[in-house]
Amino acid sequence: MAYDNDNIFAKILRGEIPSEKLYEDDDTYVFMDIMPRVDGHCLVIPKTPARNMLDATPEQLAACLKTAQKMSHAVMKAFDADGITFQQFNEAAGGQEVFHLHYHILPRHEGTPLRAPGQMADFGVLKEQAEKIRAAL
Ligand code: AMP
Repeated sequence: MAYDNDNIFAKILRGEIPSEKLYEDDDTYVFMDIMPRVDGHCLVIPKTPARNMLDATPEQLAACLKTAQKMSHAVMKAFDADGITFQQFNEAAGGQEVFHLHYHILPRHEGTPLRAPGQMADFGVLKEQAEKIRAAL
């Protein structure tokens, strides 16, 4: 399957649509998920095109994992979390909805289930949570 340059995360990378940025380096970009399954739910993406894990280069995967570990420590600290759920979906059959490689980082607390999918965040709350994560980095 081909990479679509007009997917929503490609538009975020080009600055065509807004995102609540948490971190970036030469190879990766991190921002808040706008339909968070838990407080602090964020997404790590490569800056270069990859549809998902199946077509990504080893370099893209390595860069994303390196950033994901850094962000996991930051959200653990920011939300005093007990653990991290790390998710990544490949193709529609695998649960993927946005076709630019991305990793979900979800800070978890003992006994607290994930919220249902598809619930839009309050953007004021999202910004406050992003500030806590940026401070923890
Ligand atoms: P999936 O492809 O199934 O891993 O899910 C895509 C994720 O992207 C979902 O968790 C959405 O809430 C999230 N998402 C979709 N559009 C945006 C956006 N504009 N900014 C931030 N997150 C988004």
